[in-house]
Amino acid sequence: MNPKEEMYLWAKDLWPITRSLTGDGVRETLSYLKQLMPSLKIHNVQSGSRAFDWTVPDEWSISNAYIDDEYGNRIIDFSENNLHVVGYSDQIDLWMTLDELESHLYSLPDQPNAIPYVTTYYAANWGFCLTHKKRKLLKKGKYHVVINSKKKNGVLNYGELIIKGESDKEVFLSTYLCHPSMANDNLSGVVVTMALAKWLNSLEKRKFSYRLIFIPETIGSLAYLSENLQYLKENVVAGYNITCIGDDRCYSFLPSRKGLTISDAAAKHVLENTDKNYKKYKWLDRGSDERQYCAPGVDLPIASIMRSKYGEYAEYHTSLDDLNVITESGLNGGYQAIKRSIEIIENNITPRITVHGEPQLGKRGLYPNLSIKDSTKHVDVRTLMNLISYCDGENTLLEIANIINKPFWELLPLIETLIKHNLVIDEN
Ligand code: ZN
Repeated sequence: MNPKEEMYLWAKDLWPITRSLTGDGVRETLSYLKQLMPSLKIHNVQSGSRAFDWTVPDEWSISNAYIDDEYGNRIIDFSENNLHVVGYSDQIDLWMTLDELESHLYSLPDQPNAIPYVTTYYAANWGFCLTHKKRKLLKKGKYHVVINSKKKNGVLNYGELIIKGESDKEVFLSTYLCHPSMANDNLSGVVVTMALAKWLNSLEKRKFSYRLIFIPETIGSLAYLSENLQYLKENVVAGYNITCIGDDRCYSFLPSRKGLTISDAAAKHVLENTDKNYKKYKWLDRGSDERQYCAPGVDLPIASIMRSKYGEYAEYHTSLDDLNVITESGLNGGYQAIKRSIEIIENNITPRITVHGEPQLGKRGLYPNLSIKDSTKHVDVRTLMNLISYCDGENTLLEIANIINKPFWELLPLIETLIKHNLVIDEN
């Protein structure tokens, strides 16, 4: 099966799992991913551990939750939709009036058919989320409110995959797995990252080593950084935070804090040559784990390639962000964009021509003088000559691609041919 079909099927399998920052849903998701990639290592971080300025919260689990009216009619049932309960809600079993219940209900008047996604990770509280349509039907009277949840001193889990290359220098890919049943944010990131892992693992050789992590958002990246900061700072040369990468409506780019890394340049080149109308966000629009990866003193070279960005599409953080929002082609477009960016990072040599003057291509069979009318053998000679004319040992291949306005992936086979004929060497 190709990654395009696989990614969507994985998302379907992972869809029903109740995920949060910690707990069984994260473990179930990680063990599913481990089946796909047995070298995935599952780590534990103890509740209460310090992660820079933060503390890893207690582990949260929930078995069921509901609200019944005084006649025993079930008004809200967690088993029907895991967004119905505010994430990290305290245990509760109480009778109360509608007035008392109101301050614990969350709905969206502007999106009356959507159940909002609400969490209370760091403040003890409880609540239910429901469609505004349903909320308006609630009548005065008494309600039986039950949440069977538990917080305990346990662990925060995350997955880590190391794929070795020729160099110890690393490309770092991070995605999060803490959202319950929502698709673009965040199952798309999980399945695209897994497809990239399988692709990277299948390569015969890699210049760089690869580090892929599946973590809960924010506290997970903080915990991971606090365990590995020095090593990451010394070895990570590029990387991406992978989220919101499964719908078909647009491509989006969000830079690293300084915006000057190879990850930024590669991503912009790929998107420019994939869809000229891609959306360009600024660091000021950040909202995911790049907040930690690019924070002062951390400053890893991490950018983001997305489809519809978090916070920018109508279904975001609601029950409407379902498996209809993501598509096979949407996931595949996101996957291809990051794959191509990685191919740039892997192959961005600084080529220098080894002859003075233009090389004589004809004697090497590189000039299509006899087959010029045969379109299947047509070589874009002008592109080849433009490429050669910038092989001065000063420009990288990516810089040349930008100067001559051709996609990197069209130039790469040409440069490989030139290297094979000893016409080009890598200046570095
Ligand atoms: Zn989110």
